[in-house]
Amino acid sequence: MKNSGKCSKCQSNGIMHVPALRQLYGGGNIIELRPSGKWLSWEAPVMVSRYVCDKCGFCEEWIDNAGDIAKLKKLFGG
Ligand SMILES: [Zn+2]
Repeated sequence: MKNSGKCSKCQSNGIMHVPALRQLYGGGNIIELRPSGKWLSWEAPVMVSRYVCDKCGFCEEWIDNAGDIAKLKKLFGG
């Protein structure tokens, strides 16, 4: 959907990009990172934006920032 601009369920062309928001006290569409052994140094969370179909409501989640993908790969990749 992000790349095709088309809903993968109903084929509508009405795709909305809803950026991630970070709220002050938790919440938002984010992935929290807590590197082990570093209790006082928190990594900035990874922001996850959504692509939502304006016809059927189907949504996909994407991490838009390449640096954030690299961060996840370092922490969780095989
Ligand atoms: Zn749709």
